Amino acid sequence: MQVKTQADELQSYLTDASNMPGGHADGLFVPDAAEELVGILREANESGIPVTISGARTGTVGGAVPFGGYIVSLERLNKIKSINKAEMTATVEPGVILADFAKAVEAEGLFYPPDPTEWSCQIGGTVATNASGARSFKYGATREFVTGLTVILAIKLHSSST
Ligand SMILES: Cc1cc2nc3c(=O)[nH]c(=O)nc-3n(C[C@H](O)[C@H](O)[C@H](O)COP(=O)(O)OP(=O)(O)OC[C@H]3O[C@@H](n4cnc5c(N)ncnc54)[C@H](O)[C@@H]3O)c2cc1C
Repeated sequence: MQVKTQADELQSYLTDASNMPGGHADGLFVPDAAEELVGILREANESGIPVTISGARTGTVGGAVPFGGYIVSLERLNKIKSINKAEMTATVEPGVILADFAKAVEAEGLFYPPDPTEWSCQIGGTVATNASGARSFKYGATREFVTGLTVILAIKLHSSST
């Protein structure tokens, strides 16, 4: 896992396509595996540190702009794990770039409809935002094409003394 704390290393993660100003963070984590992501979120949660998940930062509303705490970039969780042609399903990591995914399924004779115009976004970002686009009028938005998710939640478990 890469950990970056220098201002120049964080710079490009402090804004997105919204160009919202004022983004700042104390550190950037770039996990190579889901287990590392679990560790980051656990530590941040226990320490009360806010976390901003960074996809490809093509969002236009500032959702990926951090205001303190940690940035976690999913750019290295970018594997297409499998494509099942018969069932027309695929299993991917969240950081897969949409354009790469579209090409990979096309090579299998398949078609992935979600098209939010900006092809450099990550699949995880499109799911988080339920991205839509011109093709959504015919096929629906991203949500229509998600059959299952593995979700890592940062929640505090409260033990009861009674
Ligand atoms: C020129 C241009 C045209 C666009 N056109 C459209 C359009 O037609 N339709 C449309 O819907 N969008 C459009 N967008 C917006 C953008 O491309 C989409 O919202 C895209 O889905 C964002 O993906 P991303 O990887 O860049 O996410 P980011 O911008 O990095 O993140 C977006 C939000 O999702 C969260 N997030 C990202 N990844 C994850 C994850 N794995 N798990 C949990 N949360 C996550 C972030 O914290 C943030 O809140 C456009 C953008 C541009 C620049």
